[in-house]
Amino acid sequence: MTMRTHYCGELRSSDIDSTVTVCGWVDTRRVHSEHLAFIDLRDHTGIIQCVVDEKLDLRSEFVVSITGTVRSRFEGKSNEKLSTGEVELGDCSVELLSSAEPPPFPMHERSDVDENIRLRHRYLDLRKTRMQKNLRIRAKVNSAIRKAMEKQGFVEIETPMLIASTPEGARDFVVPSRLHPTNFYALPQSPQIFKQLCMVGGIDRYYQIARCLRDEDLRADRQFEFMQLDMEASFVTQEDVLSFVSEAIKDSVESITGERPGKIPTMTWHDAMERFGSDKPDTRFGMELIELSDIFQDTEANVFKVDCVKGILYPKGAEILGRNAIDSLTEKCQNWGAKGLAWFRVGENSSLEGALTKFMSDKEIEQLASSMGADAGDMVFVIADQRRTVNHILGLLRLELARPPVGEGGLNFLWITEFPLFESVTDSGEPIPAHHPFTMPHPEDLGMLDTASGAEYLSIRSQAYDLVLNGWELGSGSVRIHKKDIQAKIFNMLGIQDEEAEQKFGFLLDAFKYGAPPHAGFAFGIDRLVALLAGEENIREVIAFPKTQSGSDPLTNAPTPLDSTHLEELGLRLSPDTT
Ligand code: ASP
Repeated sequence: MTMRTHYCGELRSSDIDSTVTVCGWVDTRRVHSEHLAFIDLRDHTGIIQCVVDEKLDLRSEFVVSITGTVRSRFEGKSNEKLSTGEVELGDCSVELLSSAEPPPFPMHERSDVDENIRLRHRYLDLRKTRMQKNLRIRAKVNSAIRKAMEKQGFVEIETPMLIASTPEGARDFVVPSRLHPTNFYALPQSPQIFKQLCMVGGIDRYYQIARCLRDEDLRADRQFEFMQLDMEASFVTQEDVLSFVSEAIKDSVESITGERPGKIPTMTWHDAMERFGSDKPDTRFGMELIELSDIFQDTEANVFKVDCVKGILYPKGAEILGRNAIDSLTEKCQNWGAKGLAWFRVGENSSLEGALTKFMSDKEIEQLASSMGADAGDMVFVIADQRRTVNHILGLLRLELARPPVGEGGLNFLWITEFPLFESVTDSGEPIPAHHPFTMPHPEDLGMLDTASGAEYLSIRSQAYDLVLNGWELGSGSVRIHKKDIQAKIFNMLGIQDEEAEQKFGFLLDAFKYGAPPHAGFAFGIDRLVALLAGEENIREVIAFPKTQSGSDPLTNAPTPLDSTHLEELGLRLSPDTT
């Protein structure tokens, strides 16, 4: 038996005449007369109206326990907005458990409160329905993930936080070592190396809801610390990994929405770039990129005498966009790297109207309109440039024009496969890995490892895959290299000398000498998944104690300076420029 018999939000007409005790915070108090007050008492389940006829000095956010009898509200007085709106507590006796100072911001939902103040008093912010709901969604998702992984034979293993650097490509957070002055631990950017060691160790199927830390600039979908479902399995293919993760995703979604998503579709990276101009396409809406290069093969129009011409169709755009809006879109495209933005209003009979039509032949105009499937009132936007630039700009323009808000348009999960092995090439000709250096090349492209050079590197595909939801990258994974010779070749290509490889990943390479099973894995961000399930734009809203945009914590004041004794103990001296 706890201090309460019921939660505030669970009382209903079926409880009428029962004597109950509820506990919580005074949400509002309306004084009727000197001896009669209505108190709305709140806990995480909701609010119950209590009619108190003693003279009490109770204010908002006081903590009380109220014992009373459930009764029907007077006719016409029920409140449809409350789950408990048909009843109230009468004959109340109130026990004051804690008084409270007036809160520093209004406790009403969604009142516009400065972020710093919200986070400074996060414990008050947590009392709000929005945060209560979001954190409980999060807990359910975690629980569904655990169950899904366990049902598929995965074992939860905890990996250490104080480690040597992990190669995820971000900056490490480091921790100075007291016992080994001048030496530092890195906090894990991911459990990557440990999970691979687990595979060598015969664990077979590993998972962990893992905290990962990356010292990168914060954004709406990025915090320094974040949680991932991290998994790895031995003797499996890419298809197996996609299926394990899909199961966890579907179970999580079902636990929140009650509906189980269907099979998650797959698209190759190449198709995603060509069709949506992005490796994380938001497939909640169409407006795909349409190839137009052939139309302009023999064009007289100089702007179209380039490597690639593609367009997007903005339905009814000509009716929506005025000249100023088009100018501002053009400016945006230029800021994204375009030379310009060609646009055409579609008139009756698919006629096109735009500044460039006078340089185009009738045939080009006609073919452009028909390839775009243009109807009267639509707007056609065209970019002509290098293929990569065209895709990139149109991908961004598409989002700018028509991306639905978070929480609308359903949940569009998508697997992106066959990522390139390398994302770019340095000036000195060395390729930079797109994922991490343990990613297995695509079997059909293995031969290219020996022959490629320069830009050719970029066409080598890998067995790396991402999971995307509504245009957010939820996670990444890959089939790993488990053979020493391929790994050595990749390190070689990346310009990682034997000595450096030995120093950075020697322990993994050593482990591989003793019998590494073929293995593959994945990790997806739980903060992002929960934010999208909760309809939140910013992952901060689904994290109990997040950092601000500038990476500080107004609640605890972290990061804080270290006192001199502590510094000395760690063998650290601060450089005068930073103090
Ligand atoms: N360690 C990778 C990451 O955190 C995921 C993986 O390859 O399994 O993105």
